[in-house]
Amino acid sequence: MDFEDLYQEVILDHSRRPRNFGEMADADYHVSGENPMCGDEITLHVKFDAADNVEAISFTGNGCSICMASASMLTQKLKKKSRAESQELLDSFTGMLTAEQEPPPDKRLGDLQLLNGVRKFPLRVKCATLAWHALEQALQKPAAKETRFSDEDETPA
Ligand code: ZN
Repeated sequence: MDFEDLYQEVILDHSRRPRNFGEMADADYHVSGENPMCGDEITLHVKFDAADNVEAISFTGNGCSICMASASMLTQKLKKKSRAESQELLDSFTGMLTAEQEPPPDKRLGDLQLLNGVRKFPLRVKCATLAWHALEQALQKPAAKETRFSDEDETPA
């Protein structure tokens, strides 16, 4: 199986059957993000335990296959992770997609590394990073239980 096949299989599988998809009534934070360029809209639901680890994480919403697959894999990856580990994964993943030079592979990312190819398509990078920007806000423990943001393209055409 070559990279393209593996990419297709994993991304399509996650977008068709997203993992940890659903509401979480007792979540500490509900962070909603939208990517207007593509029409992606997702909400990340995060609950921390007493030791500040990610106790539970799920997401809801609608997006393209890259957005849904990235969010689905994020929730699988982040469960039970400490705040520091979560931040490291966040930095590693967003770094992989936004660095000038392709960074060395990071095994901690697992299947998320398959999204590396998205870096060649700047308009799709926001699809892949939307859930991660939501995670970034949750990790900062905002004052409000529910927050909302938009990943507008800040560079004028
Ligand atoms: Zn998208």
